[in-house]
Amino acid sequence: MSERKKEYTILLVDDGKTNLDILSDVLSPLYNILVSKSGPKALELAEKHVPDLILLDVMMPEMSGFEVITKLKESDVTSRIPVIFITGLTASEDEEKGFFLGAVDYITKPFVKSIVKARVNTHIKIIDQMRTIERIALMDPLTKICNRRGFDKRFDAEWRKAISQKTPVSFMIIDADKFKSYNDTWGHPQGDLLLQTVAGVFKNAERDNADCAARWGGEEFVMLLPNTDIDGAAEVAEKVREQIAALVILTEDGTKTTVTVSIGVNSVIPDADTSIADFVSNADQALYKAKESGRNRVVKVMTHISQVKAD
Ligand code: GH3
Ligand code: MG
Ligand code: MG
Repeated sequence: MSERKKEYTILLVDDGKTNLDILSDVLSPLYNILVSKSGPKALELAEKHVPDLILLDVMMPEMSGFEVITKLKESDVTSRIPVIFITGLTASEDEEKGFFLGAVDYITKPFVKSIVKARVNTHIKIIDQMRTIERIALMDPLTKICNRRGFDKRFDAEWRKAISQKTPVSFMIIDADKFKSYNDTWGHPQGDLLLQTVAGVFKNAERDNADCAARWGGEEFVMLLPNTDIDGAAEVAEKVREQIAALVILTEDGTKTTVTVSIGVNSVIPDADTSIADFVSNADQALYKAKESGRNRVVKVMTHISQVKAD
């Protein structure tokens, strides 16, 4: 962790100004610091800034640190933020209670500055490693775009949002045409290169952070387009199809190769009874139609709610 770029933000919560000042002095060279002298204000800051770590006093007027952590754990936004208690309560029952409520560490006052710093650094290191693991777990190693697990996570979240906001959500599935024969002709490593190139084009077609392109598996890719109707999604799909068809991929001996893709697109304004599985399966059937009718094309379906109601 360098002092140049402060990547992490720590929220310090204590009703005593002296403690806040000392902690701030110790930690501000390494981290961005937010401070709060009360529980309610701390909750407000935590919701707004989602700090990476919270150092929390227990005895405070208005709201105790135990109450603060309980509220933090109740909110989807703040529940995963690690909390370290830093308190004058030295009894082991209090420490036990702190851990029971979900704290990751418990430091008693008077504290030794270097020890607080060391413990904070340890927790930040753990957070950093967790995030690296999460990032790797959600990424396809070959193409470096989102993998199926990452996609499903996003899909779930966007689906729920679309239900509550009654907005459309679109989905496209793309599949390389005659890819087996490409592999057979040019070899598997060249096939891999082609997949990487196609993934790059596909990822580039995302219009903003809401769109999510992913490798679904094998030579299939999918994209989620929240807040987009079928025509909007088909437009993106058509652009992808054209751009991939225009690609020239060189082999090791300099031969120019090309590839085309077929795409199935579906769109729905889901309600609580809409089945995701049927929605995806309809897009897959559209893809099958695109294959059947000659490949290198986009086929769209408009899912009628009645078609996808779960039994
Ligand atoms: P279609 O136009 O009907 O889609 O025909 P296709 O040949 O593309 O379809 P098929 O499902 O028969 O073949 C898919 C091929 O994709 C077979 C498999 O070897 C190849 N493949 C799947 N994953 C990878 C990969 O990670 N790297 C490479 N190089 N090939 C892969
Ligand atoms: Mg206090
Ligand atoms: Mg294929």
